[in-house]
Amino acid sequence: MKIAQILATKGSDVIIVAPDDRIITVLSLLAEHGIGAVVVSADGRTIDGIVSERDIVRAMAADPDAGSTGGVRPRAVSSLMTSSVVTVGTETTIDDAMEIMTSSRFRHLPVVDDVGHIAGLVSIGDIVKAKLTALEDEKSALLDYVNRGG
Ligand code: AMP
Repeated sequence: MKIAQILATKGSDVIIVAPDDRIITVLSLLAEHGIGAVVVSADGRTIDGIVSERDIVRAMAADPDAGSTGGVRPRAVSSLMTSSVVTVGTETTIDDAMEIMTSSRFRHLPVVDDVGHIAGLVSIGDIVKAKLTALEDEKSALLDYVNRGG
């Protein structure tokens, strides 16, 4: 099973922010969309970075002003984002994507097309859901086979 099959179900919409947007904007988007990370892109097509809730939590924990009106919220996205983003293509297998997430210890993988433009984003939740669906399908097929006397 490939990443393309997940995108066919969930769509290719990706929540994107610009590097000079503020962290308060990211917080609003994470809350509004019920997601854990946003992709950072200045031109809306090529990936400059990724900011996940973990980056914000880490920065807040390290910030002595975290409880005041200043703190992390007015900071630029570029100051917290991870710049070396690991991506996958639509033809990457779900098993390979799961292996990348597990070994690299992150839960989000942006999907890019042949020229490196953003084509979607899969989370570990999307991967687990796809794996469970595949297991259910396999179970149904095996039960059918057994019930037909195969
Ligand atoms: P996450 O588990 O996805 O919330 O992210 C944990 C850490 O990994 C954060 O510092 C993220 O910025 C970073 N991160 C998340 N996804 C990726 C990715 N695809 N490539 C590189 N870093 C990532």
